[in-house]
Amino acid sequence: MNDLIPPYESVLARIAAAAERAGRAAGDVRLVAVTKTHGPDVVRDAVDAGMDCFGENKVQEAAWKIPLSPASAHWHLIGHLQSNKARQAVRLFETIHSVDSVKLIDTLEAAARQAGARPEIYLEVNVSGEPSKYGLTPEALPGAVEHCLATARALTLSGLMTMAPFDPEPEHARPHFARLRQLRDEIEARFRIGLPHLSMGMTGDFEVAIEEGATDVRIGTALFGARPKLARPASDPDTTAGAL
Ligand SMILES: *Cc1c(COP(=O)(O)O)cnc(C)c1O
Repeated sequence: MNDLIPPYESVLARIAAAAERAGRAAGDVRLVAVTKTHGPDVVRDAVDAGMDCFGENKVQEAAWKIPLSPASAHWHLIGHLQSNKARQAVRLFETIHSVDSVKLIDTLEAAARQAGARPEIYLEVNVSGEPSKYGLTPEALPGAVEHCLATARALTLSGLMTMAPFDPEPEHARPHFARLRQLRDEIEARFRIGLPHLSMGMTGDFEVAIEEGATDVRIGTALFGARPKLARPASDPDTTAGAL
């Protein structure tokens, strides 16, 4: 018996119910299973249970894990990306949710061209304005979009991402998610482009996010339980930062 089947089915049912409340199709919401700190054994069980799309927040950890995981898995980077890891990132990930500066757009574009990679990117927006969070300010977003449209050929801009402030009450996240959707609508109208993806919602707030239009929910704890501190070789430089 695969232990991940019950939590996976429960998360799928909650996604479907939230989508239905919002008059949306459950199939419009993609589950990005967040496997950070878990080993490739967990990814294998997750694939056996039916999951196919996985999120990691650190390039170094992903570089170790992805080659040991089933080749059918699709990988998304959801954590802050340092420029010096861009070349690795474009080889490992199909989609990068956490593009948070114009400089990073340029670095990723150059890295993708060099690697012959064609990643999708989402721009991360710091909607709440919390100083501890990465992301473009809402004011800086149009400039970053314009830069992307003018310069990016290897990268495909297809969405926006945000994280709500930590809060045990999911309803408190709703205005932040609604704001991201509103920013998306403004960008689409202003630049006459389609920006179909909204990456928002985690274990504590994904149902509210779906009600507000999320197309990608990034869920770890509800699927895999509390995160272990370490699931990688101790020599890995990224391990010192610990789990989120
Ligand atoms: C860890 C993480 C998640 C998943 O968090 P859970 O609360 O375990 O579902 C989602 N998004 C990002 C950016 C993360 O780092």
